[in-house]
Amino acid sequence: MRNNTYDDNNIFSMILNGKIPCEKVYESKYSLAFRDVYPKAPTHVLVIPKNKYVNFNDFSAEASIEELSDIFKTILKVVEIEGIKDSGYRVTTNSGKDANQEVQHLHFHVIGGRKLGRND
Ligand code: AMP
Repeated sequence: MRNNTYDDNNIFSMILNGKIPCEKVYESKYSLAFRDVYPKAPTHVLVIPKNKYVNFNDFSAEASIEELSDIFKTILKVVEIEGIKDSGYRVTTNSGKDANQEVQHLHFHVIGGRKLGRND
């Protein structure tokens, strides 16, 4: 059984089902990209799968090839839209307790638009 720890009331689930708004940057068949409400840099976009995956473990083990591929293509699309593909950017995901994952729906942070420090 998978996803038995997925909380349908997490904030990104509410964005996906339209209960709360987001500032959308791009959307594909399997993924959604929207701006982080507390941006750390001129570009700070969150890329999430549309289906219910709690974290990186869950997604990388359970997602289809199409979903796995789609999320990386979506990240590429975002850096193109934001004009940071060539200047450089950072892609991170916090997975689990020790990484301080706050929202229990997998998300990749795409951060750029300024020179980033090692600990940004
Ligand atoms: P993490 O610590 O990796 O789980 O990051 C969660 C991120 O979600 C943080 O950067 C928050 O600023 C961001 N966040 C929380 N609520 C929202 C929201 N409603 N819309 C956009 N970003 C959000």
